[in-house]
Amino acid sequence: MNFDKIIVIGSGVSGLTTALTLQLLGYETVIYTDKEAGQISDKNAHPEFASLFPAASVIPHSFYSDQLKELFRTSQSFFYELRKRFFSGLSIHRHFEIFEFEQDEPEYRNWMLDFHPVMELSPQEIPRRSCSQNLYGWAFNCIFADWPRYFPALTACYKQSGGHINRRTVRTEDLPTLPADILVNCSGTGSLELFDDPLDEQLVMRGHLLHKPGAPLIIGAGGNIISYNYTPKASVYSDPSGEACDVYCYPREDGWMLGGSRETGYLSSPTTEFSKKNAESYQIGGLAIPSAIIDINKDILETTYHQSLRPSDELYPFIGYRYVRNKEEGLRLDHETMYGKTVYHNYGHGGAGATLSWGCALDLASRITSKNKPRLQELLLEEFEHIL
Ligand SMILES: Cc1cc2nc3c(=O)[nH]c(=O)nc-3n(C[C@H](O)[C@H](O)[C@H](O)COP(=O)(O)OP(=O)(O)OC[C@H]3O[C@@H](n4cnc5c(N)ncnc54)[C@H](O)[C@@H]3O)c2cc1C
Repeated sequence: MNFDKIIVIGSGVSGLTTALTLQLLGYETVIYTDKEAGQISDKNAHPEFASLFPAASVIPHSFYSDQLKELFRTSQSFFYELRKRFFSGLSIHRHFEIFEFEQDEPEYRNWMLDFHPVMELSPQEIPRRSCSQNLYGWAFNCIFADWPRYFPALTACYKQSGGHINRRTVRTEDLPTLPADILVNCSGTGSLELFDDPLDEQLVMRGHLLHKPGAPLIIGAGGNIISYNYTPKASVYSDPSGEACDVYCYPREDGWMLGGSRETGYLSSPTTEFSKKNAESYQIGGLAIPSAIIDINKDILETTYHQSLRPSDELYPFIGYRYVRNKEEGLRLDHETMYGKTVYHNYGHGGAGATLSWGCALDLASRITSKNKPRLQELLLEEFEHIL
């Protein structure tokens, strides 16, 4: 019996954050993974490896779970603690969520710093299109994880804490003989091959991104970096079901990350078909990118921030899958006993796996150690003092 050794399957943000948490809490962990982000040069060849694509860690989008509130609050507070300790790639953004139609205030309004509805803001600071009239929504300060800096730092931190990454594919028939009594499944869409999932249909939401390298950080009146999600009326831009769809701009140190799209499909072999509208698109880098991502962002960036964006700019397209699983209860954060081992599952984070990564890791650690989360958070931060 090896009670203190834990094998984590998957080296995406869920696997790394969970393994780092457990390693710092005194377990001997090893990650088994068939792919590592740092070794992949063509991200578009692996759309199912979601951790190649997060635009940011802002607020949860395209995520479905009744645990959202608790996970988000824990995650945010842990990110703030890491930022105080200068963890690489974490900054504070002034983030705007803007709509061209009325919208109820979100539940998270009470958990965000400096939250203000649009009507309390000065009109010049609100992201708008040249033809925007009535705008709704809100702004707040939040943690942003600059992915090209944060994710490698997370990997380095895990290795520095004594964790190991073992490059290998895990197959179902390997599970009984894996050399640990606790397995943590963070294999994302790989879970469907490895384990029985109680759901019949497995929803993924495809997202298009455009990276504009070298574009400047956009700084707002208060000195914070600005980012936004902007949802025009459905008649201007909608998802395949006809619901209004957002575009966004997240400035990072390596340029802007522009989005977005939310095309739904069900995981099936050999291919996943996505519902798409016959919307207009630009051909960029050999991929069809919804033209709204450029046209609407261009209008907002010029009108509000006097910044330029053209289809002819140097732009790099990416297409990845957010693994939603299900729109009622997408997240799987539970455990089961198999082959005499306890298997903890941590997958189905939709478009919020980075945002919720610390919340999910602490939740699992609390189940494994039987310690409460505030105590675990304290212990973890003490350990971080030694490695940061
Ligand atoms: C376009 C787009 C934009 C997004 N924007 C945001 C955002 O702004 N904020 C946010 O929080 N989230 C965002 N997300 C979502 C986020 O990327 C995911 O929720 C998150 O990356 C999921 O991480 P994961 O570690 O659970 O899974 P993954 O990153 O998919 O990792 C799965 C891991 O398991 C490994 N694996 C799979 N099968 C096996 C096997 N059999 N054996 C061994 N290893 C295996 C894989 O190699 C990989 O390492 C976005 C996603 C997309 C696509």
